[in-house]
Amino acid sequence: MTTDAWTAPYWQLAPLRAVASDPWPEGRLDLAIVGGGLTGLVTGLTAARQGLRVAIFEALFPGAGASTRNAGYITAGATRSYERCVAAMGVAAAQDLWRASIAAARQAVAFIADEGCDCGLAQTGRITLAVSAKHAEAQRRKAEQERARFGWALQAVPRNELDRYTGLVGYHGGLYDPLTWGLDPARLVDALVQAYRAAGGAIVCPAAVDAIDGAQPDAACASLQVGLRRITARQAFIALDGYADRLASPWARRVFPVGSALLVTEPMAATARRLSPTGAAIETSESFKRYFRVLADGRLLIGGRNSLLAPERQRGARRRLSERSAAWISPCAGPLAISHAWPGTLGFTMSMLPILAREGRLYFAGGYCGHGIPTSIALGRMAGRWLAGRETPALALHAIGHGASPPRRLHQPLLAAATLAFRCRDWMAHREVA
Ligand SMILES: Cc1cc2nc3c(=O)[nH]c(=O)nc-3n(C[C@H](O)[C@H](O)[C@H](O)COP(=O)(O)OP(=O)(O)OC[C@H]3O[C@@H](n4cnc5c(N)ncnc54)[C@H](O)[C@@H]3O)c2cc1C
Repeated sequence: MTTDAWTAPYWQLAPLRAVASDPWPEGRLDLAIVGGGLTGLVTGLTAARQGLRVAIFEALFPGAGASTRNAGYITAGATRSYERCVAAMGVAAAQDLWRASIAAARQAVAFIADEGCDCGLAQTGRITLAVSAKHAEAQRRKAEQERARFGWALQAVPRNELDRYTGLVGYHGGLYDPLTWGLDPARLVDALVQAYRAAGGAIVCPAAVDAIDGAQPDAACASLQVGLRRITARQAFIALDGYADRLASPWARRVFPVGSALLVTEPMAATARRLSPTGAAIETSESFKRYFRVLADGRLLIGGRNSLLAPERQRGARRRLSERSAAWISPCAGPLAISHAWPGTLGFTMSMLPILAREGRLYFAGGYCGHGIPTSIALGRMAGRWLAGRETPALALHAIGHGASPPRRLHQPLLAAATLAFRCRDWMAHREVA
């Protein structure tokens, strides 16, 4: 592989690429789902089990978006800090939201176990290494606060005890979070495809939806234009997360795509044990954090962007990610032999909180801001029950003021400006160390 070439993801994609399409549905559906990633599959599974006639329309193959391009972490918490949630929505709502996002990690793990998904799920824990004394102090405060507020057993690790968790040196302390699991995302998607089909759901692929109608308050049904075909359904659910801007809908402006990329090394089990003696996932406290975890076959899965722009669009992004990873890990581990490198797109919102919402006959979930595995499972299950008329979500995520994201033509310039701000913050944190 040349140093600038992307490959397919490391995960086992072959069974998913081979998923044969179900026949095009005849007549009116109860529920048409756009997008066959985790959100679409969990929603479809839940709704099909409630007796709805459901079909998923997927542009490529199940999981082709971020659901098989991610790092496979299940972590607790929301991307927007608790303090900012309090400022925006008051203490009670912020507490509800944070409690739910911590619980979502455990619930996702229980769901995967209950469904019997064979996806290599393992609780590893995770340590965030403080790049400055200030960050270490903030970590100590956070550990105390989260314990007191939510009983979340975060643990501040002093500098002189970091070697229990990592062979990397030069950090000022760490924050250990037991609520972190790792899994193979493609095996998870594969297991969900099987469960969804067993529940009676259909998957039509490849089938890119070109247009969707039904957002008007008085709409009698939802209708989808898929090539030359028109599909009607009592209601439709849009499950596109970072790929939401590919279909005009009421939410396309509220979720904006942010690029990211991952690397996987050749097996290096002995070195990997030195880098993470307990098997905990390792990350830094930077704004553009670097992270890795050890896979079952002794490879390292490494992530960490230093730009928010789509990596496919940046020349040299793959090479820069490799160099940044090597600068971080190689002093302790020697040269890294990279076997896989791939990009992907995450959905972000201006509020840094996910959206679960409805307009007319159209429903939407997405904008997970990096917590997509636990959040898509949690919101997919809520959405499935909501669409089946069983229960309206208690968590009024649609009541949060998400704000429209800026017009599409401004996305790249604004992401470039945010990239500079993040880099500056990191530069200053490192400067403090020096
Ligand atoms: C590099 C990377 C690392 C990540 N790491 C993690 C992690 O470790 N932990 C975590 O919790 N989250 C992580 N995420 C985020 C997480 O993967 C996503 O939030 C989650 O998978 C979103 O699932 P989804 O089903 O909503 O969307 P997606 O999986 O993105 O699915 C959207 C689907 O819609 C299809 N589609 C697009 N347009 C159309 C159309 N017009 N018609 C029909 N179909 C269409 C696409 O082909 C795709 O399959 C990561 C994301 C990336 C990119």
